[in-house]
Amino acid sequence: YAEVVSLIKDESGERIIGARIRDTLSGKEFDAFAKVVVNAAGPFCDSVRKMANNDVVPMISPSSGVHIVLPDYYSPDGMGLIVPKTKDGRVVFMLPWLGRTVAGTTDSSTAITMLPEPHEDEIQFILDAICDYLNVQVRRSDVLSAWSGIRPLAMDPSAKNTESISRDHVVFEDYPGLITITGGKWTTYRSMAEDAVNAAIRSGNLKPANGCVTDHLHILGGYGWDPASFTVLAQNYKRMKRTYGGKIIPGAMDSAVSKHLSHAYGTLATQVASIAQNEGLGKRLAHGYPFLEAEVAYCARHEYCESAVDFIARRCRLAFLDTDAAGRALPRIIEILALERKWDKARQKLELQKGKDFLETFKSSKNAQFRDGKHNGQ
Ligand SMILES: Cc1cc2nc3c(=O)[nH]c(=O)nc-3n(C[C@H](O)[C@H](O)[C@H](O)COP(=O)(O)OP(=O)(O)OC[C@H]3O[C@@H](n4cnc5c(N)ncnc54)[C@H](O)[C@@H]3O)c2cc1C
Repeated sequence: YAEVVSLIKDESGERIIGARIRDTLSGKEFDAFAKVVVNAAGPFCDSVRKMANNDVVPMISPSSGVHIVLPDYYSPDGMGLIVPKTKDGRVVFMLPWLGRTVAGTTDSSTAITMLPEPHEDEIQFILDAICDYLNVQVRRSDVLSAWSGIRPLAMDPSAKNTESISRDHVVFEDYPGLITITGGKWTTYRSMAEDAVNAAIRSGNLKPANGCVTDHLHILGGYGWDPASFTVLAQNYKRMKRTYGGKIIPGAMDSAVSKHLSHAYGTLATQVASIAQNEGLGKRLAHGYPFLEAEVAYCARHEYCESAVDFIARRCRLAFLDTDAAGRALPRIIEILALERKWDKARQKLELQKGKDFLETFKSSKNAQFRDGKHNGQ
């Protein structure tokens, strides 16, 4: 919600010294100044580089990747499969993921858009490829969710061989004071961050008090977490659920819910469980999934959740797991967020529409042909 709309240069125009930022919730703009600006805008990093110099050579070669989600019975007993080389030389995998099965992927060049959509033939390619290795039919009607993402494959603008598109990350100071870090993998974020910060130290001639500490930092909720923490949650908390008649009745913190809370929030799961117990927000948001109403309130209070889409896509993964279940959960999610954020009826209506529009870009079996880029619903 804080979008860089332009970069600020010093008086001589030789160095980047800050950025103009738009608060996309209020529409207000403001300036922020820094000794060094780090551009980590993923597939959009070229658009930020262009704010410094419109003539820069693009670093990003965007590649679209589609994944589909299937019921849990395609990855029984926690098993998955990976085919390193399919008949046509591609990689296909099928793995257990959050109680369901995720299968993928594709790799094809694409344009950069805010809401990329998977094409029907990409979904079919994944289904066909995994069918080759199973003795049961995997049907299109089994697809609970399907989505497309844009990989920021990067070229180092200073590399001699400009043909080489790397799966590694690239750190580049295009313009004095502007460090771009891109490419790489989700799993290599710590070494990417270390390299970017080291480049910023050099660029800004900064004097850090200590060396890099990333190797020893736990992620949020990681300190004191133990694989058995979920049992303590199950022992100590109840899920207080509001009935349709308004009565609050107790329910068990069953192991599916306590395992989910413990894995998603680490030691902070006790805060979510407290909300579920003390504020009557202990109901599941969707049948068959462990996500609780309490998580919506927790994410609004502690994780900057500002919209219903934030919740179904970026705080819990319901949109990615099961598009239809996410659609059914939307009204209740909006009700809870409305109380947290004091939304009026008009804002609630807008959130519902935005949520539905967002879910239309996911191709579950139900909305398979819906607004498909290639098939146009015919
Ligand atoms: C289909 C697919 C499969 C993948 N598989 C794997 C895998 O198996 N393993 C793995 O490790 N990695 C995988 N990745 C790669 C991984 O997801 C990406 O490398 C990683 O998300 C990139 O992180 P990032 O922070 O550089 O960019 P992003 O996560 O894209 O973040 C960039 C951020 O910049 C923000 N932004 C953009 N423009 C502006 C602006 N003007 N102002 C302010 N903010 C802005 C965006 O909103 C976004 O939040 C996969 C990626 C895809 C798409």
